[in-house]
Amino acid sequence: MSGLLEKEIQDAQEAVTKQGDTVRSLKASLKDGKAEKAEVDAAIQKLAELKLALEAKQKEYEKTTGKVSAQSKEALRAALAGVLERRMFYIPSFKIYGSVAGFYDYGPPGCAIKQNMTQTWRNHFVLEENMLEVECPAVTPEIVLKASGHVDRFTDFMVTDVATGECFRADHLLEGHLEALLEDKKNPVSPEKAREIRELLASVGELKQDSMAAALQEYDVRAPGTGNAISPPFPFNLMFKTSIGPKGDLVGYLRPETAQGIFVNFRDLLYYNGGKLPFAAAQIGNSYRNEISPRAGLLRVREFTQAEIEHFVNGADKSHPKFASVAGLQPLLYSRALQMGEEKKAQPMSLGEAVEKGIIANQTLAYFIGRTWLFFIKVGVNPERMRFRQHLQHEMAHYATDCWDGEVETTYGWVECVGLADRSAYDLKAHTAMSKIDLTAFEKFPEPRMEEVVKVVPNNKELGAVFKKDQKVVKEALEALDECSAMELKSKLDAGETAKVSASTGQSFEIKPGMVEIKKVTEKVTGKTYTPSVIEPSFGIGRIMYCMFEHSYYTREGDETRAVMGFKPVVAPTKATVFPLVQKPALNDLAAKISRDLTAAGLSNIIDTTGNTIGKRYARTDEIGVPFAVTVDFVSVDGDGSVTLRERDSMAQVRVPQSEVASVIRDLVDDRTSWADVAAKYPAQKAQADDE
Ligand code: AMP
Repeated sequence: MSGLLEKEIQDAQEAVTKQGDTVRSLKASLKDGKAEKAEVDAAIQKLAELKLALEAKQKEYEKTTGKVSAQSKEALRAALAGVLERRMFYIPSFKIYGSVAGFYDYGPPGCAIKQNMTQTWRNHFVLEENMLEVECPAVTPEIVLKASGHVDRFTDFMVTDVATGECFRADHLLEGHLEALLEDKKNPVSPEKAREIRELLASVGELKQDSMAAALQEYDVRAPGTGNAISPPFPFNLMFKTSIGPKGDLVGYLRPETAQGIFVNFRDLLYYNGGKLPFAAAQIGNSYRNEISPRAGLLRVREFTQAEIEHFVNGADKSHPKFASVAGLQPLLYSRALQMGEEKKAQPMSLGEAVEKGIIANQTLAYFIGRTWLFFIKVGVNPERMRFRQHLQHEMAHYATDCWDGEVETTYGWVECVGLADRSAYDLKAHTAMSKIDLTAFEKFPEPRMEEVVKVVPNNKELGAVFKKDQKVVKEALEALDECSAMELKSKLDAGETAKVSASTGQSFEIKPGMVEIKKVTEKVTGKTYTPSVIEPSFGIGRIMYCMFEHSYYTREGDETRAVMGFKPVVAPTKATVFPLVQKPALNDLAAKISRDLTAAGLSNIIDTTGNTIGKRYARTDEIGVPFAVTVDFVSVDGDGSVTLRERDSMAQVRVPQSEVASVIRDLVDDRTSWADVAAKYPAQKAQADDE
């Protein structure tokens, strides 16, 4: 059924394109006197009918399949791009010099939205949780990123066109090639092959270098455009390298994430917090990744704003005191089990149930999933098109306990906008090992107690003989083991087996019986020293903005040329426009006064005295998503002094005393009141303008 509909949509789209060409050429002929006006009008009329037929087919498709058709996806993306570019939300950077891929400038509405988005994030997370905010430099000395593993492992596989030298991301090429094979209707693959391809597709991002090479070879993947052979894949580090200081001998990198700035400040932050845990630190700032193939506008760029939280907690107790406040929320969860199941569809589930059933590893991680969901809703992402996808076991780093990506559905598919990970104590241990600075916390017991503790005593002589220059690294790795891992190691060694121990340098060492003594002793303890675990929600502000743009965009019923950006007032770049109904000094003066009142209330506003019809003026402000419009008319100056206040989406209008209008809008923007409340409180004004 949907296959047939897809074909019908394709035919309808072709008919529209063909008729569009006819109209264009007829218009040109009209100018040259070679066509009649009536002929052009008839062609335009036919084009409108064909467009309506296409729209009806697309709607039917959406209704039957619950999906947006490829054609309407492209049409939506193109129409939205038109508004975003025309209204200067964002544009390619360095445009007059031909631009460089992966860099964008935000124009006036883009800047305002980004600012509102980060401020909302700050209020929603930093303020609400009393987080400790920091701001660290983007230029980072090599040692920090060596400790974190980025210097050695922050890579993507790259391939090059052997003839032209052009570079491509290996996983993207393979993915595109496999998807094309599955979609090829002319040469369909067998059902077994299709299954094999789908399985490979699910793990493309996790392939090791040799498996990636084998897959590219097996499927004979070639360079796009030229069809030339490609090189074997090789790792490419995504960090921008630089040198610090005039001599250039201190290697640095632009940070690929803001998180490391928080980890390296952990000791001071803990002191600032009175030595108490749990606490969270946050940072908003730019991160840099030299992406091999930046694409999809703001979704994959080389410089982007991240907002990251590191919530430090004792690994032994990851409960959250405010969990009850989110336990009843039911976001769409796409657990490992659902991803492996038949239907492959996310399901709504309460966070309380997800923790109880062990689907989400702990309350703190689930708490942040809930808060993240509320944040996305607050800034205008449609919750029905947002899901939390759990990482499959092989997607997670070895140290991670549980990871979920907040993904939003767009015309580009599901886009990861936020990653939420329980990273255990990995990061602080890695920086302790490299910096030799103690990054532990101390939990003081209310009363000293006799406790059985695990002692790890490395045998220095044996370690020295076997590991030579690595002796120290191995010793530190053994001493850093938590009780549980130490006891696991002990049971293996007692059974005469060997066991691998990973060091924070990324190396792994084989430990044999006799190299370490692990024993339980009972001692009087006053507290416990431990390296805190960290739960990290990491947001990409640009990605969220783009998703929000797609979810906000719509056209006025019956007029597909009138685009509206239905922004939530809290993120809207301009909160209100002020129009004098006609160009008269008394009306202009009052409009200017109201504009000043709005500014004094901290509300961004524009005053429009262009003299265009009110309908035209509304259309302009709809495109930049202004939620409220104040019109000053003759009643405002000669009558009861009230002005009209119009809400963008419903286009409903009420009459509000001019002295109250700024505070009413302030309350609407701050969500202290709703439009329904305002409409109930003030008398309605019959719509007078949109059709003018
Ligand atoms: P990651 O550290 O890769 O999990 O990234 C954390 C978040 O940063 C992601 O969820 C994205 O929102 C954002 N992000 C990562 N890479 C890019 C990029 N190249 N362009 C824009 N946003 C990005």
